[in-house]
Amino acid sequence: MAIFDATTSASARRIGKDRAALVPRPNLFDYREERARFTWADAWTMLDGLPGSRGYNIAHETVDRHAAGRHADKVAIRWIGKTGARRDLTYADLRHETNRFANALSALGVKPGERVFVLLGRLPELYIALLGALKARCVVSPLFSAFGPEPIATRVGIGEGRVLVTTPDLYRRKVEGVRDRMPSLAHVILVGDGETGGSGLHRWPALVDAASPDFEIAATDPEDMALLHFTSGTTGRPKGAIHVHGAIVAHHATGRYALDLHPDDVYWCTADPGWVTGTSYGVLAPLSNGVTSIVVEAEFDAQTWYSTLARERVSVWYTAPTAIRMMMRLGADAARGYDLSALRFAASVGEPLNPEAVVWGLEALGRPFHDNWWQTETGGIMIANFAALDIKPGSMGMPLPGIEAAILRRRESGVEVIGEPLVEGELALKKGWPSMMRGYLHEEERYAKCFVGDWYLTGDLAKRDADGYFWFVGRADDVIKSAGHLIGPFEVESALMEHPAVAEAGVIGKPDPTVGEIVKAFVALKPGHEPSEALRKELLAHARKRLGAAVAPKEIDFRGNLPKTRSGKIMRRLLKARELGLPEGDLSTLESDEK
Ligand code: AMP
Repeated sequence: MAIFDATTSASARRIGKDRAALVPRPNLFDYREERARFTWADAWTMLDGLPGSRGYNIAHETVDRHAAGRHADKVAIRWIGKTGARRDLTYADLRHETNRFANALSALGVKPGERVFVLLGRLPELYIALLGALKARCVVSPLFSAFGPEPIATRVGIGEGRVLVTTPDLYRRKVEGVRDRMPSLAHVILVGDGETGGSGLHRWPALVDAASPDFEIAATDPEDMALLHFTSGTTGRPKGAIHVHGAIVAHHATGRYALDLHPDDVYWCTADPGWVTGTSYGVLAPLSNGVTSIVVEAEFDAQTWYSTLARERVSVWYTAPTAIRMMMRLGADAARGYDLSALRFAASVGEPLNPEAVVWGLEALGRPFHDNWWQTETGGIMIANFAALDIKPGSMGMPLPGIEAAILRRRESGVEVIGEPLVEGELALKKGWPSMMRGYLHEEERYAKCFVGDWYLTGDLAKRDADGYFWFVGRADDVIKSAGHLIGPFEVESALMEHPAVAEAGVIGKPDPTVGEIVKAFVALKPGHEPSEALRKELLAHARKRLGAAVAPKEIDFRGNLPKTRSGKIMRRLLKARELGLPEGDLSTLESDEK
């Protein structure tokens, strides 16, 4: 089924004249024409560049150029706190605050290229620190505040973090105990009140608020490293995907085309900047497009979200399937009391979006959801349902102008593009778009493995239909998507193995109707330990304490032994097939089995 988007003239007729008059023409009005015309070389003209042709810096494109122009007094970030407190930062305010942060880093002796980690809830300081550090040409790595000490220590360790911005509470609970695993960490900047002690601690007001609001961004090569986003693979440690300042051209263009951002929009991205969507589309794309961005500190609550959409007159909304499914559970009637007439465009990302959810959007919000696809490594949206194109519910849409996507089959001698429609294969992108990762930090081999010839292989299985729409099929590997967050089974297994009773652990994603998948662990115990309800609870609590609620398993089952290959690798695929009652597939490499 294809449904017309409410921003096209066809369905504008359906929603009535008054509302149609308010709908601006989509930026990407004619997909085929724009695709034929578009070049990344031309796209740079949408940006300003640093004055005096000194290169491109993300913070200039997102903040300073607007602060120096007609958007200076426009609200850049409208922050809504958990307790209802509000703070508006105009583009001019944001310029001053980020200048102060950049000066504070210089005062600490932090040099360009050094890594600044940010472990904060969605507070204004998160946005200021992220953009201020980019001004100082430091590399920023945002961490999810629901991570436990283990993922934090691993990531700061790999990234050789020199500075960490956090709160006294998070520092005490999650950092202090693993600080010895972060030898590079020289400075911790603390936001908000609360007691804590340790070396190199600085309070935000004394350090940042007291710094000068004047700062000039030094020359920045668009190929300079700007962001380090950690993501997970099937095996090994988390991977730090490197993104450069020049990625901003893709953030800008995709904000314009895939999210259809117009200058008067009030935009709300519900993702946390601790994950790549919350940075690329919760900070960079909206600000580079000069819109007003809503930031909500509180976690999901359906009624609060409806009232935020209505009260803030949100016109473009970017959210995720788990949240949409939770809203659907309340029924379309829950939306009835809210005036959602400002909403023009709704989009979703991060996990497969059920076709019913697309249609439900139209019924409950008056707008269908536009699914789009990308991943940490791509830096920005690659495939999307666009405002001016028909949506095929269940499809991720079509590639952005400037992006070539294909379905490939691996061959011994390389890869082969699958030409026939609706044949499943690996989703691949022709390399070279500006926000493509430039490496995994210190992991050249893992990076090289992502490419075959000119193609970047995404690790997703998909198919393309005869009209050119792409359809997600599944992952080619064992990573888990839970509530939109990518979780590496190896990280969870390692934390479980730290427990003295655990001999082996195998972790899978178990399908769940709301969050997509939940993390489920299978554990074999060491001699002298017996399975019991008490031990199960102890292991769940141990994992939660080490990994944090976002990553820890929700279910643990005991096994006498776990199925392994001859080389000793736990066969997660088999654990999953058995859990779900699916065919066990090829067992030729199976060496030892469950008992
Ligand atoms: P991350 O790197 O954490 O953003 O996760 C990227 C992965 O999320 C992709 O490789 C897909 O497996 C999944 N993903 C992202 N967007 C979609 C979508 N629209 N439909 C299905 N899966 C998606």
